[in-house]
Amino acid sequence: MYSFEQTIQKLRSKGFKLTPQRLAVIKYMLGNKNHPSALTIHGDLKKMYPSLSFSTVYNTLNVLEEIGEVQSIHVFSDHLNYDPHVEPHLHFFCRECKKIHDIHPDDMDGMQLPAGEIGGHLVRSSQVVLRGTCKDCR
Ligand SMILES: [Zn+2]
Ligand SMILES: [Zn+2]
Repeated sequence: MYSFEQTIQKLRSKGFKLTPQRLAVIKYMLGNKNHPSALTIHGDLKKMYPSLSFSTVYNTLNVLEEIGEVQSIHVFSDHLNYDPHVEPHLHFFCRECKKIHDIHPDDMDGMQLPAGEIGGHLVRSSQVVLRGTCKDCR
């Protein structure tokens, strides 16, 4: 998600109704580096929007993912985490603090994310989750 306006434009052109609750979810995600789960987002936004339902949060995230403005990250088996940062990057899950850290291409020591054609398959996106102990917990 690069800008709020651009995301809103895209959603409008798809005929998505922009209720205050849905806008709140979009604003929450914009620039968010914490890789929140739908449950976390719901819990945080419910303080300001008491009538906000979990399904509104979940559906808005789904739509944002469909239009390529957020990506879901599969780290846990029972829920997804969401990232508004959609350029290729790695995730590092810390087993100690349970945080998902971003690893940007500059910090990858020349390691490349799979891209292009591999074994005749065309890669459109890739998701790599590394696991271990983060630099803060070491
Ligand atoms: Zn940690
Ligand atoms: Zn990320």
